[in-house]
Amino acid sequence: MLEAFFGGISSFAVSVANIAVQKTIDLIGGFIQRKFGKNWINNFSSIPKLIRVVTGNLEEIDNEITERQRSYKRSPNPKDQEAIEDLKRQKLGKFKEYQALQQEMAGQEITQDPSRFSESEMIQGEENKLLYHTGLITLGKNCPRCKSPMRLQHKTLNNPGFSDFFWQCTGFYIPEIQCRSTQPFRPLDLTLVHKTGIPEMEIRNDALITIASESYVQNLTDKRMKSHLGESDTDILCPVHLTPMFLKQKKGPDDMPILDRYHLGCKNPNCSQTTKLKSFPQLAAYLQRQEGSGILV
Ligand SMILES: [Zn+2]
Ligand SMILES: [Zn+2]
Repeated sequence: MLEAFFGGISSFAVSVANIAVQKTIDLIGGFIQRKFGKNWINNFSSIPKLIRVVTGNLEEIDNEITERQRSYKRSPNPKDQEAIEDLKRQKLGKFKEYQALQQEMAGQEITQDPSRFSESEMIQGEENKLLYHTGLITLGKNCPRCKSPMRLQHKTLNNPGFSDFFWQCTGFYIPEIQCRSTQPFRPLDLTLVHKTGIPEMEIRNDALITIASESYVQNLTDKRMKSHLGESDTDILCPVHLTPMFLKQKKGPDDMPILDRYHLGCKNPNCSQTTKLKSFPQLAAYLQRQEGSGILV
């Protein structure tokens, strides 16, 4: 019934096309209760800590794989090869744990207090609502061809609109899969369930751009972003290595536009994956994750 269901920072994007349902929030609440049962495994407050532990494990495993691959390249041997296969299995297991924790955290919040959530349809002029959620690893939207998770991508331009978005198979970057499958993004297919009280989602996209472009707002945002350079973002994982991405800045002049300046990159030295931060909602969501408040505070 739920075609797409992805979460993190307490939000869900749900595809409920052509289904006459009760409120999406009730639908998700019911879905989560059926999935996890009434007794949560973890205490709510301990989940963020567990997520940090699991993403730390993912990084350690990835480092070990890189080491082993180096050694194998120097002199191919079955011992390294076996170890690499085993580490890859371990990593996949940890990633499943990570996904379950993210779903559980969002699920607990929505079942405990549905009134703190509301739902939005994707309407022209409200692109900020979608942009706010880009980069989150998809939970449940799988490639029809190879079953790898798909992730929502957009073209490289500042302040993209709905037509610039598409679903991309994460198998594209994995040498053994190399799946080139993409799907168009259809805004009308998607209902976004999100926490209320996010100021960047409560105004229209053009109004947000106007306010956030004010030079004193931009300067403050830039200063705050700069203070996080090099920090890991445990909500945004590299789709290839499944490790938390970290904040990077492009080299360039001091007056480089803020929307050209920042992106998230993968820590693996052989990886070119990035998550773009080319709109104000994306910067706001980043600051919200790291500091607990966005641009419009
Ligand atoms: Zn695929
Ligand atoms: Zn990577």
